[in-house]
Amino acid sequence: MKVLVINAGSSSMKYQLFDMDNEQVIAKGGMDRIGLGGGSEHKYVANGETYKDTDLDIPNHEDAIQRVLNKLTDATVGVIKSMDEIDAVGHRVVHGGEKFACSVKITDEVVSVMESLIDLAPLHNPANLQGIAACKAVMPNTPMVGVFDTAFHQTMPARSYIYGIPYEAYEDHQVRRYGFHGSSHKFVSQRCAEILGKKPEELNIVSCHLGNGSSVAAIQGGKCVDTTMGLTPLEGLPMGTRCGNIDPAIIRFLMNKYNMTIDEMDAYLNKKSGVLGVSGVGSDFRDLSAAAEQGNMRAQLALDIFTYNVKKFIGAYAAAMGGVDAIIFTAGIGENDDYVRAESVKGLEFLGAKMNFDLNKTIHGKETIVSTDDSSVKIIVIPTNEELVIARDTKELSK
Ligand code: ADP
Repeated sequence: MKVLVINAGSSSMKYQLFDMDNEQVIAKGGMDRIGLGGGSEHKYVANGETYKDTDLDIPNHEDAIQRVLNKLTDATVGVIKSMDEIDAVGHRVVHGGEKFACSVKITDEVVSVMESLIDLAPLHNPANLQGIAACKAVMPNTPMVGVFDTAFHQTMPARSYIYGIPYEAYEDHQVRRYGFHGSSHKFVSQRCAEILGKKPEELNIVSCHLGNGSSVAAIQGGKCVDTTMGLTPLEGLPMGTRCGNIDPAIIRFLMNKYNMTIDEMDAYLNKKSGVLGVSGVGSDFRDLSAAAEQGNMRAQLALDIFTYNVKKFIGAYAAAMGGVDAIIFTAGIGENDDYVRAESVKGLEFLGAKMNFDLNKTIHGKETIVSTDDSSVKIIVIPTNEELVIARDTKELSK
């Protein structure tokens, strides 16, 4: 069975074609600048080769999907003979609100429920819906499945997801913590149980997904009980360009001082804050580390703030669950940045979490237990695979 996984952004699209008989990726790729009037690049990887079509004009998502299918079925670089070989398509959808606690087969009714959730994720859900509409237009007979970033977190108890504001905000407008990166937290926590030879039900796990966007999740007995992102992905850890937790009173204070509109403030908190805002250097942790090594104090401060906050949430979630058996590091930073991992767990020996710092230094992007043999809390690097979670759910639901 072959499953095509689509991750559609407002002006980008990433895809992977899986052979689900062995869960291998047969081909993958992505394109950018969709609908932005030329200058697009379509990168396509198959048979161990990377191909790039440049300077394309991709007017919309439908054209983008058609280009994907053209590549996949191409006589020279393609991997399938016709699009009929694609048995199902899985779509990543950012926000499922309270309507979707698990993945679903996409019907017209499901699409209209997704449309009703646009308010909750105005930047992301419309793009995901465009991707779905484009696929439906080009492949009308292929079953489609929606997999939501929020779904895994729907098991949180109310005490974790209700904010300390009037309850009517939840009743009237569904203002609550939803959490994101759900497919990633689900994948790495299940993999963690496999690595440790335990059932998910037996484990208390703190999962740290540290990438461009970062979130920590508390996973007790296989179910998410708390997470750092909230109504939107702005809450929690300070991130590449997002502020994470701040005193909400800062918003009014700075809007007055800088004479900003609410939209400008929104961009300030989402795009100009986080480690970029603190360091003035950038949002990429490789650039931050290089600058800090050269003595840039603000770059070092940004790293300190980030790792201090990761540590704080690990401690908070250990308390929330009454103990922790494993701490997972995943995503771009978690998998690759040994410095961030080391600083985030230094001082947690009192919890029973002891890192093998020498081993940790050598691990980049490879599944490894980086705690010492006598550490009662396992610290594990696990490369995430959100696309595989989407492909698995798509396979299950389109049978
Ligand atoms: P996304 O949220 O876009 O999927 P990723 O999980 O791919 O993001 O994480 C991207 C981030 O990971 C980069 O911005 C960078 O900060 C960090 N990163 C990637 N590779 C490395 C590395 N080798 N060392 C340190 N940080 C890295």
